[in-house]
Amino acid sequence: MGEQIVFIGLGNMGLPMAHNLVRAGHGVTGFDLVAASVQHFVDGGGLAGADLNAAVAQADIIITMLPASRHVQGAYLGEHGIVARARAGALLIDCSTIAPEVSREVAAAAQARGLRMIDAPVSGGTAGAAAGTLTFMVGGAEADLASARPLLEQMGKNIFHAGPAGSGQTVKICNNMLLGILMIGTSEAIRLGMANGLDPKVVSEVMAKSSGRNWTLEVYNPCPGVADNVPASRDYAGGFGVDLMLKDLGLAVESASASGASVPLGELAQALYARHSQAGAGGLDFSSIYRLDQAGS
Ligand code: NAD
Repeated sequence: MGEQIVFIGLGNMGLPMAHNLVRAGHGVTGFDLVAASVQHFVDGGGLAGADLNAAVAQADIIITMLPASRHVQGAYLGEHGIVARARAGALLIDCSTIAPEVSREVAAAAQARGLRMIDAPVSGGTAGAAAGTLTFMVGGAEADLASARPLLEQMGKNIFHAGPAGSGQTVKICNNMLLGILMIGTSEAIRLGMANGLDPKVVSEVMAKSSGRNWTLEVYNPCPGVADNVPASRDYAGGFGVDLMLKDLGLAVESASASGASVPLGELAQALYARHSQAGAGGLDFSSIYRLDQAGS
């Protein structure tokens, strides 16, 4: 428990994940560009770091939970980056969802400096992050995952080794492409029932016990008033942003074109979330796709 942990990126996901490490008894120093997020972290027992470079240089373990590839490249690479500053033997865990080739690039740079690195993107949403029940999809060496596992177990329930560096990202991108498609399908099905005079709670309840059953229907229902404690019940605030889903669909479509896979529904989902974002919904939770093209949305 004496390990020094630095956690960078205390947003919708990073904050509850870092708090779970604090609750498990670790000393965790948190950083974010947004001062209010650091304050929330401190309010929950975390430590605020005064100097990122000094904290990184002393850390045994550095965890990042940042929005996209460019933020991860910015944090890890370059003369002031984590790779240049961390001490030999440090373990780097990037939980952000980013392009697999960027994960491989950063992991190779880390390895060249004698550091250990895994990509460990997550699934389970902000509720899973708060409850410590995330699924981790890990790319990297088995031995490095074995070192990280006790920490990951304090933030998650299912921990999978997908393969070498970048593999965690690839499986995460496959998952999120499916999630993005399912959210649109669930929204359409509920709206079709409502347009025909049905109660959305009834439509959802029946489909949840039928072959249309899926996570967006049962755990993260997009129709306001059907479920409590989901973004749809708080005007789509918090959760997983439309623009983050759009980023992941972009990664999926890019990866498909690079590998020759055919993903027509992934491409369509990307176009629909892009339209939703352009209409001003980029900062709302992705389940707000339910309101796409609806009057007043
Ligand atoms: P978020 O935008 O809420 O949080 C990202 C945080 O990183 C912000 O607080 C931002 O200020 C901070 N940040 C950016 N650059 C920084 C830097 N250089 N140094 C320090 N802090 C910096 O995003 P999120 O919803 O927490 O998602 C984070 C990652 O997790 C994304 O890659 C996302 O795709 C993935 N993800 C999100 C969810 C979800 O449900 N929200 C679920 C699974 C995976």
